[in-house]
Amino acid sequence: MDAELKTAASDLASLVRQSSRALAFTGAGLSTECGIPDFRSPGGLWTKNKPIPFEAFLSSRAARAEAWRRKFAMDESFKAAVPGRGHRALAAMVRTGRLSGIVTQNIDNLHQDSGVPDDRLVELHGNGSYATCLACARRYELSWVRARFEATDGEAPDCTDCGGPVKSATISFGQAMPEAEMRRALDWTVEADLFIAIGSSLVVYPAASLPVTAKRNGAMLVIVNREETPLDDIADRVIAADIGTLLQSVMEHLPVAGVN
Ligand SMILES: [Zn+2]
Repeated sequence: MDAELKTAASDLASLVRQSSRALAFTGAGLSTECGIPDFRSPGGLWTKNKPIPFEAFLSSRAARAEAWRRKFAMDESFKAAVPGRGHRALAAMVRTGRLSGIVTQNIDNLHQDSGVPDDRLVELHGNGSYATCLACARRYELSWVRARFEATDGEAPDCTDCGGPVKSATISFGQAMPEAEMRRALDWTVEADLFIAIGSSLVVYPAASLPVTAKRNGAMLVIVNREETPLDDIADRVIAADIGTLLQSVMEHLPVAGVN
């Protein structure tokens, strides 16, 4: 580990130690070490294979079938993903009371897999590890959807209760942000005295606005990202380091909560 990263880690650890309500905000950069690509990044999957907008999913049976075909094709390569060093460090920080919570743009379920309880986690873009009926909100496992999909030669299945469309539980382009989650993310942001943005390009809403809100409400803002972000100028610290290495090192600098 280089000296610069070591210094940044020990500095971030002391900020965490001095704060009473530290909040982590995570994006795709946290999960790349787990083999999950950053779809939105330049050259990423989404620049070649445009995502299906919500409106098309709702109005077209063919678009629904295509969405599921892509989802299953993609899941083949990603379902083996397990939490990385960054996820494990953040989960440990939640467990020991160093972090009050995590707000994430990620849909990969890796925060849950690393042991973060649901009441400490807000998923702004939903979750890709299961599906729900858009009409009645009944939950379906992907294995159920897949079995139906394959048995019907690639048809998108409908809800067996109400006939509504069944969709991956993620928020698509054009789909409204989940209200309760947005509310909770905003509450936590306003209450935070330290806001740590990790692995997010901070370009899309609400990722672009939450750090600004935190700052306006008196929080210290730390941005950890490999690339520059549009909010670097208002940040108190900008750390362009390998995320897994950095967070693991931050964790090692933190004594057990309460001991300081
Ligand atoms: Zn339904």
